Amino acid sequence: MSEFTNESVMAIESLLDDVDGALERLRLGTYRTCQICSAPLDNTELEANPLLARCGDHLALA
Ligand SMILES: [Zn+2]
Repeated sequence: MSEFTNESVMAIESLLDDVDGALERLRLGTYRTCQICSAPLDNTELEANPLLARCGDHLALA
């Protein structure tokens, strides 16, 4: 497996984790709130990125 393929697989798996996380947060009722501080997320930003999981203050944290 080439390095390029590895990076692609990792990028796709990371995306899959984000999707799983969003679905899980929908089930738990914590969708639309920041994972870190529970602040409500901006509707416009959620529409632009439905997988958004953190507020602006915590967006950079992985
Ligand atoms: Zn936050």
